[in-house]
Amino acid sequence: MKPALSARSVLGSFLALLLVAPLVMPPFYVTLLNYIGLYALVALGLVLLTGVGGLTSFGQAAFVGLGAYTTAVLTTATELPAWLAWAGGSPWLALFVGLAFTATVAFVLGSLTLRLSGHYLPLGTIAWGISLYFLFGTLETLGGHTGLTGIPPIAIFGYELTDGSQIFYLIWAFLLLAVFTTQNLLDSREGRAIRALKGGMVMAEAMGVDTARARMVIFVIAALHACASGWLYAHMQRFVNPTPFGLHIGIEYLFMAVVGGAGQVWGALLGAGVITIAKQWLQDILPRIFGQSGNFEVIFFGLMMIIILQRAREGLWPLFARFVPVKATQRTLDAAAEPLPRKPLPARGDVILEAKDVTRKFGGLVANNAMSLTVKAGEILALIGPNGAGKSTMFNQISGVDTPTSGEVLFLGRPVAGRGSRAIARMGMSRTFQHVKLLPTMSVLENVAIGAHMRGDKGVFPAAWRMDRAEEARLLNEAARQIERVGLAEHMFDAAGSLALGQQRILEIARALAADPCLLLLDEPAAGLRFKEKQALAELLRKLRGEGMGILLVEHDMDFVMGLVDRVVVMEFGQKIAEGLPEEVQQNPAVLEAYLGGVE
Ligand code: ADP
Ligand code: MG
Repeated sequence: MKPALSARSVLGSFLALLLVAPLVMPPFYVTLLNYIGLYALVALGLVLLTGVGGLTSFGQAAFVGLGAYTTAVLTTATELPAWLAWAGGSPWLALFVGLAFTATVAFVLGSLTLRLSGHYLPLGTIAWGISLYFLFGTLETLGGHTGLTGIPPIAIFGYELTDGSQIFYLIWAFLLLAVFTTQNLLDSREGRAIRALKGGMVMAEAMGVDTARARMVIFVIAALHACASGWLYAHMQRFVNPTPFGLHIGIEYLFMAVVGGAGQVWGALLGAGVITIAKQWLQDILPRIFGQSGNFEVIFFGLMMIIILQRAREGLWPLFARFVPVKATQRTLDAAAEPLPRKPLPARGDVILEAKDVTRKFGGLVANNAMSLTVKAGEILALIGPNGAGKSTMFNQISGVDTPTSGEVLFLGRPVAGRGSRAIARMGMSRTFQHVKLLPTMSVLENVAIGAHMRGDKGVFPAAWRMDRAEEARLLNEAARQIERVGLAEHMFDAAGSLALGQQRILEIARALAADPCLLLLDEPAAGLRFKEKQALAELLRKLRGEGMGILLVEHDMDFVMGLVDRVVVMEFGQKIAEGLPEEVQQNPAVLEAYLGGVE
């Protein structure tokens, strides 16, 4: 294996090559590079949308078309409506209008389609991809299928980019800027929210992340990348017609993102490069092999897609990265960052959580029957009972994930029903999950930082331009502090998925703590922990209680609960069968019967 190169030197050599490319290469190859740049810009949007966010779109070509046609109309029209006259004739103003227009269209389409689940979203993107394509071909003002000609070149400070080798620099500047901002975005508070979309929505909402907003954000960003590519394309070609904005090209963009490595920012460039060059080459060579003309490359690409999906799910980027090993930049924590402000905890002994007569029926099954309990600040209450007793159901009523059939749950005096997990998290209730929910490829630090999401407010734009670094340092510091507190410091930078199950449970507690709660809800925190780990967990919970935190823990491990908690509520068949001090409850005949006669 070759020694790892520094990221900086690899990037530096790449930029140097780009800089001289148009000077030394024949025009044909410069044009090819231009196309690669344009395609990569669209594919980059898809890396964010599909690769990272898990939302598949076949319709990106239509957004490219919006960008291209907007600028084509604005820069060639002899007469514009009065309200648009200011934007006529200038490509740069047209870019601005195009981006605004695309953002609006994307927002409307996103509002209509992003809520669709499963296959409906991709189908939705196909539907509007086709609609926009036919709209381009039908509208009289857009020149129908012949399109629009006479588009002027882009001028920079009066210098016109008429030649392929001139617009080359603009295309690649756009692409590199987009890579830079996307990379920054992904490495931020907002970026963690985006990265949680694929497989972590429930968890993210419980940590106060607005996942619907995050989906819309990446959808609009991807559309804007496509629009910018269309703008550049229109001024490079100097004419537009509907052909390059059809559904089949939309599929090709998706293909590029997937082949390159849909989760990788640089994968977009690799995918666009490989596909563009391969296509060019195959178009030349295949008809010669088969001795007749035809679109053989389409068939070839279909086969290649299948092979890649079978053999290299992560695309080609990981392969490429093996040949050009780049040292990963180790994250550094800024210990000097100011700590985040904390909410004052309620006074010790105050009732913070109160469930009153909570009943939950699933059809004929009564999973919770007139359950009441209270948790005070500075107290640990255990809700125990054999499997199937209704503990998790109760937990869901308390955390607002589910609504009682009758009765109510009050947190800090306010009902939780119908509020949604995000609002409840904001009120100061934080939870862990019985079945661990974390993002396995992200580091422990980043996973825990999601817990602190609500304690920051820097959005997409500051993140893209690194204007969020002070806040980011504070959020990461807070995460690091909680990781140290729960004893996972040595795993701070490890992938969360590489931890043992017990450690993953502890990670979830750190994440919950990073939200600065006054009530912690833990669903079977000791499950899967070894004896030593259980002891450490009990120690941690005692410490938190000492600080005035209210803790409700759901367990069926009696031994773990007994030496630790202040009070116990025992459930069986959906009902409360006992309540009191651990020692009392332990002697209760009904409880002994439930545990000895029960499954566990
Ligand atoms: P525990 O967490 O104590 O093991 P649960 O609260 O998960 O128990 O389950 C209590 C009972 O309610 C079980 O009989 C379970 O099958 C039933 N139950 C839980 N959730 C649902 C649901 N969403 N739909 C129907 N039945 C459910
Ligand atoms: Mg359960």
